[in-house]
Amino acid sequence: MSVENLQKAKKLIEELKQNDYLKLKRSLGVGLYLFNLLKDRLSEAHLELLKRFDTMPLPKRIVILNEIEHALKIEHAELQINFDFYPKKPLEKFFVEIDKLKVLDPKEKRLIESLGIKDLFSAFWFVPVRYEDRRLNTSIKTALPGKAVALKVRIVDAEYDPLGNYPITVRCEDGTGYLTLKYKFKNRSVLLRFKKGMQIIVFGKLMEYKQEKYMVHPEIIKEEEAGRIIPFYNIRTKDSQSLSAKTRHRKVRQAMQKLLEYVKYLPEYLPKELLEKHKLPKLPESLYFLHNPTEASNELYAFDTPAHHRLIYEDLLLFQLALQLKKREIKSLSAVKLNRAEESLREFLGVLPFEPTQAQMRVLKEIINDINQGKPMNRLLQGDVGSGKTVVAMAVCYMFFKEGYQSAVMVPTEILAYQHYENFKKLLEPLGVKVGLLTSSVSPSQKMSLLRHVRDGHIHVVVGTHALIQQKVRFKNLAFAVVDEQHRFGVMQRKLLLEKSESVFPHFLVMSATPIPRTLALSLYGDLDISILDQMPQGRKPIITKLFFESEFEKVIKAISSELEKGNKAYVIYPLIDSSEKLELKSAVEEYKKWVSLFPNRKVLLLHGKLKDEEKKRVMEEFREDGDILVSTTVVEVGVDIPSATVMVVESAHRFGLSQLHQLRGRVGRSGLQSYCFLVVPDQIRYDKEALRRLRVLVQTNDGFKIAEEDLRLRGPGELLGESQSGYFGFWVANLQRERDRYLLELCKQDAEELLRKDPELKEHEDLKKVLLYRYADRIDLSYIA
Ligand code: ADP
Ligand code: MG
Repeated sequence: MSVENLQKAKKLIEELKQNDYLKLKRSLGVGLYLFNLLKDRLSEAHLELLKRFDTMPLPKRIVILNEIEHALKIEHAELQINFDFYPKKPLEKFFVEIDKLKVLDPKEKRLIESLGIKDLFSAFWFVPVRYEDRRLNTSIKTALPGKAVALKVRIVDAEYDPLGNYPITVRCEDGTGYLTLKYKFKNRSVLLRFKKGMQIIVFGKLMEYKQEKYMVHPEIIKEEEAGRIIPFYNIRTKDSQSLSAKTRHRKVRQAMQKLLEYVKYLPEYLPKELLEKHKLPKLPESLYFLHNPTEASNELYAFDTPAHHRLIYEDLLLFQLALQLKKREIKSLSAVKLNRAEESLREFLGVLPFEPTQAQMRVLKEIINDINQGKPMNRLLQGDVGSGKTVVAMAVCYMFFKEGYQSAVMVPTEILAYQHYENFKKLLEPLGVKVGLLTSSVSPSQKMSLLRHVRDGHIHVVVGTHALIQQKVRFKNLAFAVVDEQHRFGVMQRKLLLEKSESVFPHFLVMSATPIPRTLALSLYGDLDISILDQMPQGRKPIITKLFFESEFEKVIKAISSELEKGNKAYVIYPLIDSSEKLELKSAVEEYKKWVSLFPNRKVLLLHGKLKDEEKKRVMEEFREDGDILVSTTVVEVGVDIPSATVMVVESAHRFGLSQLHQLRGRVGRSGLQSYCFLVVPDQIRYDKEALRRLRVLVQTNDGFKIAEEDLRLRGPGELLGESQSGYFGFWVANLQRERDRYLLELCKQDAEELLRKDPELKEHEDLKKVLLYRYADRIDLSYIA
């Protein structure tokens, strides 16, 4: 492929265009000549056109020539931007609030702020989520069917047929062929918009059927909205300004373009070695490209261009730096030791109604060891559902109690808080421990007295929800904080919990049943040490899981009946609360009636997220006491522990992720009794091979880690690390659903380690440090490097 030929072709096209195509009018054999120069450079379709070029009428030749010129230009145009010559401004200038910017008018400011963008810097990073290629670089003849394209066409005629599938049809041409626009509008007056001879630009998916090329409901776009690749931003917002989505998109785009003028002056702050090592483009250029791409490719649509990589890399590097600095900070502090840990543990085990598993003992040793380093422990305890994490936390609370310190246990829901409270009380109160419960539904007077006792140190263990991290809660000497099912809590909340103690810095334990594969866990929780409970309590029988179609429901009923006969309990889970949400799915409220009539002599209860907290608690207690069947949504998913429940029925099981189903299944099999999990799906699912394959993973294994790996493989980290989790970790563009991003996360972990080894306080990277503080200061305390 010769560059020379390319240059020759480009030069020739330029000459041909001069003087209103004078030379083109006079020359012969142009098509053949260009064909030979460009035969290994152009698409089949273009070459085909060139072959017949010389026999075509002039207007057609002109269109083709322009198109070919464009095709040659766009090749490798990506990121051919260079802002090195712009004088760089201090980074602080870019942290200026949107409100203070002169380029935007008040309306634009409000619009940008309504997107949650507070300053110039974060506006740059608000990169488009989608693009439309509206360049006019193709023709009816050459555009590929099945792809969305912009075409400049002239209207030949427009017809109205009230009985047709598409009453309005408009025929157009562009010199290379014909195109029909089809509209479902029933109103004849629409015809007036399509005047014969008018030139318009249409954008839509090009379709082809029996040699007819057409578009269904294409957009008619204005000249200024065409001719380039148009970015689309995530304009979802709570603020309901009365703008149509289309206008809103346009206005956001316009405002962003204005702000983008400043990007040229943004300094690069990532270490040069790192950019070079990973062949990443510079930040200002990358940002500019993403807001203003010159090339549309599959990579662009998939967030996979070098410019995207640059941003994602930074996102993850900052995250790793923050985690590692956090870890270092914690290890530089001191915390209380346990002097009589072994002794206290023996006492605790003495009252425990069962033998601890080897894994529980090992983890307890790891924890004691860690605490006795004299530095704050910061540890993740991972263990599959039912592996007995709570007991471990309880033992540690007891050890601290014995040495005069308080503990706090924070859980995500009221139901769980209450359940833990009861369990802690049952086991620990006989040992002299005072346990308190703090949730938002505790009455004000009770709360007052509770808070006082916590402050005075009369209450030794406080179990609670978010209420625990409210301003008013103060401890006398909190030495141990536990967060259960941590994936529901933000890093921010962890920080608040740790700030609750004035005299000592608490040891910290997060417990999670979310089986994140180990390497990912290590990168994501780089600030934490990890302990794993990899063993179930003795005598547990593996849960028997079966897949049923709705037509086989009799079998499910039979199995439930026989379990209820034995005095056991059953859960039935639905994806929805009530049918108002989505019609085709079953809902707990509707189906509850069915269960009541199926089991008239049994106590059937209903639980869902819309109930008041008090009410939820009551239902759970009733079910625990003498209930038989609990019809519920996924509110029972996390942590609920009722050992005599032996049946878990999940209806519309195909609507749940594997890991979520595994969590649900974990509500049974929590004792020595044989338990069952029945996954019920509509009969149509028979034909959905993929869905069946997915669900069979659950039938085949009880191992949460295997299931998580499978989930990760089949659908990305989904609910494990989905959208909401991005916010949790503080990412702006990275998304761990993408395999490449997970790979980059690993890289960044190593790069961050190396960077901090060479420059522990980031003295050589002042700007990088500024950005780090800007991004993470509210989540992680980084004040000591500032
Ligand atoms: P998870 O790890 O899912 O939070 P829990 O701590 O709720 O699990 O424990 C599940 C059930 O197993 C509880 O009823 C608990 O009392 C019981 N359990 C915990 N450890 C053991 C053990 N070593 N032997 C027997 N039962 C245990
Ligand atoms: Mg638990």
